[in-house]
Amino acid sequence: MINKIEHVGIAVQNIEASLKVFETLLGTNCYKQEIVESENVKTAFLQIGDSKIELLEATDPNSPIAKFLEAGKKGFHHIAFDVDDIDAELIRLKKEGFNLIHQEAKPGADNKRIAFLHPKSTEGILIELCQEKRS
Ligand code: ZN
Repeated sequence: MINKIEHVGIAVQNIEASLKVFETLLGTNCYKQEIVESENVKTAFLQIGDSKIELLEATDPNSPIAKFLEAGKKGFHHIAFDVDDIDAELIRLKKEGFNLIHQEAKPGADNKRIAFLHPKSTEGILIELCQEKRS
């Protein structure tokens, strides 16, 4: 089951400069910065109420974020939905005909298991599914 919007991902050139903007805008400090090796990104999270914003900076020219910025895009990058059971959701969405970027969930930032759906099958919006890791 898809529960809620977990976070909105924003692609930025420089996470430190962008954090200043968002921390001032939202009146709150970043609660976590983390490098996700598998995606070649540095992430920073801010929380307002139940909602989160994830800032993403490329750590490598091959990063999806570097390619996104190179293509002349900026800002809104993806929307992430919180799910109860990411494995079951991936099976369900594949059956429904969605194009999965990740066939299986993998480790993501902020203690999550994640997988992305291709924008080709989602009206042009990059969608991330995430499930809190159970410890
Ligand atoms: Zn994300």
